[in-house]
Amino acid sequence: MTERPLITDAPNTWCPGCGNFALEYAFRDVFQELQKEGISLEKFVLVTGIGCHAKIADYLDVNSFYAIHGRAIPVATGIKIARPDLHVICCVGDGDAYAEGLDHLIFGAKRNIDITVVVHNNRVYGLTTGQYTPTSPLGFKGRSTPAGTLEYPLNPLELMLTSGATYIGRGYTKNLKLLRPLLKDAILHKGFSFLDVLQICATYYDVHSMYDSLVYEVKEQPGESYEEVIKRLREWDYNNKAPIGLGTYYRKEAPTFNDRITVMKVSDREREEIIRRVLEEHL
Ligand code: SF4
Ligand code: MG
Repeated sequence: MTERPLITDAPNTWCPGCGNFALEYAFRDVFQELQKEGISLEKFVLVTGIGCHAKIADYLDVNSFYAIHGRAIPVATGIKIARPDLHVICCVGDGDAYAEGLDHLIFGAKRNIDITVVVHNNRVYGLTTGQYTPTSPLGFKGRSTPAGTLEYPLNPLELMLTSGATYIGRGYTKNLKLLRPLLKDAILHKGFSFLDVLQICATYYDVHSMYDSLVYEVKEQPGESYEEVIKRLREWDYNNKAPIGLGTYYRKEAPTFNDRITVMKVSDREREEIIRRVLEEHL
């Protein structure tokens, strides 16, 4: 198999220092690694929302689909239902996923549809020049909030756990060494995988010095109780005041939405047999 460089000839318009470059590099490395491990490049499809992050579809030479703002997850869900053999990956922004598309994010997790959601979380609307998003910290001063926001940020990891996501992790664009394995893990996980990536916006919210001083690597804790996971997810509330854990927080095997669709298509007898097997495997 000849290795494609995976770079298109589209001119890159990200600002110098933008964290999206790191995500693009990480994706390229992971796609190439997975190709070497036997997954053909044609089996990956990237679905994006709207925002600076979405330009990754222009720059990475893989199958891709530009959805509208906040609607990457329903598109990805449709693709996965029609073509269960594909690895469907959503690249979405924080405004895109946690504001416009929040309902879709929650329902994707609730269904445990077997897709991967990677949030380029720069905690600002970059493409529209710096408005606050659901993960901007309290007091964030931007175009729409010159005197500072009056709202606390969302904790997306906690929200995803309570919504039913079966893989939850956090990455950082200045830690490529960790970002690559996290992306690979999230892509290979069977079920709804959610990766929140702290992405530096060099122009409207450059907090890399603060992140550099606060981040540390979390250790995966298999067998941990739900309450213990919640406690760890609450260590940082996205308000810039605590240590920030990076890594895999949660992973669970559970029937996916496609498994349930399969159950719907068969005879009553076969359905009973599948349900019995699923229960045996997962309870
Ligand atoms: Fe990157 Fe921010 Fe520039 Fe958008 S505005 S390209 S997120 S640095
Ligand atoms: Mg953003």
